[in-house]
Amino acid sequence: MQKPPFPGLLFHSVVPKPRAEIAHFPLGRFEKLCNALRQRNYRTLTLHEAANVAAPAEGEKTLLLTFDDGLQSVHRHALPVLDFCDFRATVFCISGFYGKKSAWDVFTRNRHLTREEIRAIAQSGHEIGSHTCTHAYLPYLDDQSIGRELSESKMRLEDIIGKAVTSLSFPYGGWNRRIWEIARETGYSAATLYCGGDGDQKGLFPVLGVHQFDSVDDVLAKLATALPLSIIRARSRMMAHFARGTPIWKYRKEYVSV
Ligand SMILES: [Zn+2]
Repeated sequence: MQKPPFPGLLFHSVVPKPRAEIAHFPLGRFEKLCNALRQRNYRTLTLHEAANVAAPAEGEKTLLLTFDDGLQSVHRHALPVLDFCDFRATVFCISGFYGKKSAWDVFTRNRHLTREEIRAIAQSGHEIGSHTCTHAYLPYLDDQSIGRELSESKMRLEDIIGKAVTSLSFPYGGWNRRIWEIARETGYSAATLYCGGDGDQKGLFPVLGVHQFDSVDDVLAKLATALPLSIIRARSRMMAHFARGTPIWKYRKEYVSV
């Protein structure tokens, strides 16, 4: 199996002092990682850009940096580092949680970006994508509800940033061919995959989860590995599963913000 043309990383929170949550990545390590990527001449693409490029130029190292859930820590801590390194990220926001706390985190309830922060991120050259309205596990919904999650979140985010939202991240990585078909009918042209799927269709981009216990070398190894189903990737998928609440929370169809 071939290495995907645009390797991608998936973060959630970047915080100075991580708590007991494996999706919290330490800020100091994030700075070291971005510097290491810069020294290795990596160039970043947003998902929208990657969807419009067939393959990187000869010898060029390209990378997708993505953030799921649209958490406030991304604006506060990750963005200054990204901007310093001239890296561009794609930040996937949940339209029903602006400025509120997530209801599905078991240990720590992370605060989400406000409308103003989402607008500021878009204005500084990063891409805003959708992560649905309610962070629902889409494979458990009927087609009409899937359509509503995808179209309403797209519309609400477009109202905030004043431009088209064409990229999507599936909550909990839950997707199938039917969901992707509905997404395309709704106007999405790109989506990330981190729980299965190797991006064999145009617009689908596998990304590897980055978690609190990953060292800078671990992350660089994730990018360098030529085998998508290597041990590193399997571990990354397992960590992603446990990073986002318990199955009891996952299988709820709707969430109430707090
Ligand atoms: Zn999520």
